Amino acid sequence: MTKRVVLIGHPVAHSLSGAMHRAAFEALGIDAGYELWDRPPLALADAIAEIRGDEYLGANVTIPHKEKVVTLVDRATEDAHATGAVNTITREGKRLIGHNTDVPGFRAALDALVGKQKMPRQAVVLGAGGGARAVVYGLIAEGFQRVVVFNRHLHRAEGLARFFARSAAHMELRAMPWHESIIEAELAKSKVLVNATSVGTRSDESPIPAAVIPPGLVVLDLVYNPPLTRLLRDAEAAGSPGMNGELMLLHQGMAAFTLWTGQPAPVEAMRTALQAAREEAADAAAGES
Ligand code: NDP
Repeated sequence: MTKRVVLIGHPVAHSLSGAMHRAAFEALGIDAGYELWDRPPLALADAIAEIRGDEYLGANVTIPHKEKVVTLVDRATEDAHATGAVNTITREGKRLIGHNTDVPGFRAALDALVGKQKMPRQAVVLGAGGGARAVVYGLIAEGFQRVVVFNRHLHRAEGLARFFARSAAHMELRAMPWHESIIEAELAKSKVLVNATSVGTRSDESPIPAAVIPPGLVVLDLVYNPPLTRLLRDAEAAGSPGMNGELMLLHQGMAAFTLWTGQPAPVEAMRTALQAAREEAADAAAGES
């Protein structure tokens, strides 16, 4: 029986995960497919019920369902429990286990971006959704001492800060209102900026004005499609090193692949497929404009 893995999100059409995982299954001769399921919030519970079937290896979960899915699985692993977000589901019999491979994915990307420099201690995070939860948890685990979270709807950032209150008891984790002047003041004191909003995915916009980016800030944009977002172009112009979300995507995908199959992920096949899918998406977008 051909096994099935699905990506449940809304929307999902922009995702590059399918190309990456199909290439991985093929490279290891695993008879499995990867399907994109666009499911609005009201259809989420039915989608989760469906993947309890024997033909499913598991699933990925993306925008906007990562937090809601925690309540729909039978057990959450430590990373999923600690972040309150699930991006990967495995099946043990009829039981569903929720994992969060965005956490190791984010840490791998941050390590690569910081390189040989000493890991900084102060960060600003834009966004307070499922991706931001993996980011904040990763920053706490990396030993950051001050993390400030800005979100368009402040109550969500406040909820995130409250959620992490215990794991962040030894450091300063704050939610602040989304005002340009406050963001600018915080960026001036920070070494790392992470964009965990979806701004930049659908249009050539940056979540913040170019003028507030100080030189030398390390900028990680979780958005990976398009690869060169307005935020990353502005960062480059300001003399700040940047990276998009592709490496994080690759690493979270590698961890998910191993959870589904029990096998080490074929990293080169996945990386090559990801690059090809990204180039194809860029060509398609250029054709549209
Ligand atoms: P969610 O839907 O959970 O959260 C979306 C976030 O974006 C919220 O903080 C929301 O703010 C904010 N936002 C949306 N539109 C705007 C806007 N116009 N102005 C300001 N803020 C806005 O999504 P996720 O957290 O799952 O994903 C966020 C982004 O990160 C996506 O682009 C996703 O693709 C990317 N991502 C990439 C990963 C990777 O591996 N590279 C892994 C995880 C995520 P509000 O709460 O106010 O609505």
